[in-house]
Amino acid sequence: MSGAHDLDLAAMNIPAMKAKHKILAEYNYQPGKMERGYNGRTLLIDVGKREMKEKPVTQLMKDKFVGGKGFGLYYLWQAITPETKWTDPENEIIVSPGPLAGITQYPGAGKSLVVALSPLTGLPFDSNVGGYFGPYLKFAGFDALELTGISDQDVIVFIDGNAGKVTIETCPDEAIDSHILAEQMTEMYSDNAENKASVAVISSGRAAQNSLVGCLNFSFYDKWRKCTRLKQAGRGGIGTLFRYKKIKAVVVRWQGTVRSELNGIANKSLLNSAGLNLHREIALNDKHQNQMRRIGTANIIEVMDKYDLLPTHNYQYGSHPDTYKISSKVFSDNYVAQNIPDGCWYGCSMACAKAANNFLLRTGPYKGQQVVVDGPEYENGAGLGANTGCFDPHWILEANFYCDTYGIDTISMGTMTAFAMECFERGIITLEHTGGLDLHFGNGESFLELMHQMVRGEGFGMIVGQGVRQMKRIFAEQYGADPAFLFDIGMEQKGLEYSEYLMKESLAQQGGYGLCNKGPQHDEAWLIFMDMVNNQIPTFENKAEALHYFPMFRTWFGLLGLCKLPWNDITPPDNKHEAEPSKIPAHVRNYYDVFEGVTGRRLDEKSMIEMSERVYTYQRCFILRMGSGQRINDAVPYRSLGPVTKEEYESRSERYDKQMKEKIGVDPAGKSIEEKIRITREYRESQYEQLIDAVYKRRGWTNNGIPKVEKLKSLGMDLPELVELVEKYQ
Ligand code: SF4
Repeated sequence: MSGAHDLDLAAMNIPAMKAKHKILAEYNYQPGKMERGYNGRTLLIDVGKREMKEKPVTQLMKDKFVGGKGFGLYYLWQAITPETKWTDPENEIIVSPGPLAGITQYPGAGKSLVVALSPLTGLPFDSNVGGYFGPYLKFAGFDALELTGISDQDVIVFIDGNAGKVTIETCPDEAIDSHILAEQMTEMYSDNAENKASVAVISSGRAAQNSLVGCLNFSFYDKWRKCTRLKQAGRGGIGTLFRYKKIKAVVVRWQGTVRSELNGIANKSLLNSAGLNLHREIALNDKHQNQMRRIGTANIIEVMDKYDLLPTHNYQYGSHPDTYKISSKVFSDNYVAQNIPDGCWYGCSMACAKAANNFLLRTGPYKGQQVVVDGPEYENGAGLGANTGCFDPHWILEANFYCDTYGIDTISMGTMTAFAMECFERGIITLEHTGGLDLHFGNGESFLELMHQMVRGEGFGMIVGQGVRQMKRIFAEQYGADPAFLFDIGMEQKGLEYSEYLMKESLAQQGGYGLCNKGPQHDEAWLIFMDMVNNQIPTFENKAEALHYFPMFRTWFGLLGLCKLPWNDITPPDNKHEAEPSKIPAHVRNYYDVFEGVTGRRLDEKSMIEMSERVYTYQRCFILRMGSGQRINDAVPYRSLGPVTKEEYESRSERYDKQMKEKIGVDPAGKSIEEKIRITREYRESQYEQLIDAVYKRRGWTNNGIPKVEKLKSLGMDLPELVELVEKYQ
């Protein structure tokens, strides 16, 4: 056996597999050298025409778009038109690490941003991911990779970063599911067993081909477990697009010593000292704070339950008596606490990329095999667990494994299944519709079967895999369901499934989700504790300020190639004495040093936020160009604002009655539940609208959510194509 999965790579005869490859196209280039974080060129590969070429990174790109998500959005804008559909050949997948990606002094510096027109939303989408691919792409000589065209057969793209050679190859015998394919590619393209960490692979899986929620897996070789591990660019269905282009894998090989000099850094001592500060903080304080090194992001499952924030039974409730069965202690005691330095890139001492070893699968094509499961992360515990009513750690890990290897986004899978389950419990869909699958909350086996059906391309899993938006349409049009009720309980916006936090009691987070450019994902803003628990942003203006600062600040990570977790999942002990503790100012100051250490340029709060605001505003214009980006598109399902059903109201009736009396000025005594739901709804919907007014104003947008021309000018983003676009709506 080879690898920590039950895989017999020797029996697969990888050399024979490789011998069957036919080289369809080859491109030779001069290996590069970075200066101050940039190679100064990117690589475009058309898998349909089998053409490859280098493109220069212009000064405009560096000044206005920085890197990462900025480069991705810029390239996608050039590549498509307002009429482009996700299935059109010109739709691109752009993989772009930022100028800081690859350094090893500061934790969390190995991220790539992936940008594409999303199959799920039809809008430009960005998703961030760890693993070794992004840094190796940069060491190989490119600041970004554009994948365009549609191949007529399955292909592998191989970038040899040392030889300066790129090939497009046929791959008739390789697997598609990621846990096998990543091992095969790593074995095939590494020189020898000692060099496996020199290979990084992007892949997806078989379910990505039959659904709209495909994810991309980015690999890194885990020398402790002796297997290839996977990190996901999960959201937006980009894995679906990857398989639609008939790309099986993109592989980069880079051999050498990983060190920050490769980034052509400006000031090593500044970088070293910022890194040392944070490493020391993590070593001293993580065990007393979030225990990221021991358990990873799953540490907050019980915290969310305690504060009534854990989405349960399709976001109806925020806690459940059985949460203790999937608490972080259960996962750490039984599955993931191996005290292994689990960083997804070199130098990340936060090391939260945990995994369950020797996990025995009970279902599906790999039933009976032992595998390594990457995770679970909080989102998986909450989405694949609590939200579907499945409080069994084994099913959560099994679902987690199959989502990854099949190439399915775990968050969308959890939210889609939770919606289907609620519809089943309410009789909106029946056994007849599900093909006999019992979809009551908590049925882990049925949940797994939905995924296996997606792989086989059959059954009700094919409907679930189209996402909540399409399920709502199908249930209303074909099964006679009430569309208004489905709109209230179907937790999607802009076509994207909500991520896994209950936001009913936090107006600011309702905006954090609803005003997010790509759809309701928490990576733009996570304000629940500031708003609901600590009451630090009581007024509309306070909330609007937070919904300006934090989305812009968090965008910065996606421009530079950084992970957000080392910013606020560890906190300096004296943080509470800072003027604005929620910003973790000491860590923000570290980032000024890290940025200067690489690029030689000094930032302050204003210039840092403006860097992000340029790209953020560009993305808002881009979604406008593609048919969204107006106020109507920021509307949200009512369940994200308040209780839709009697059961939801009754589960918190004391709180809602109190709010009615104190905030709305209406005495709930003697009123029916229906009446109280109506009064609460009117109030909460009006609060959300007032929040939108305040946020648009703070961001310099019109009351319809369109960036104003003067705002574009003040940011230096009055590019002719943007001005022409927004002027149509002023
Ligand atoms: S904090 Fe976790 S996810 Fe972020 S870079 Fe480190 S190991 Fe990867």
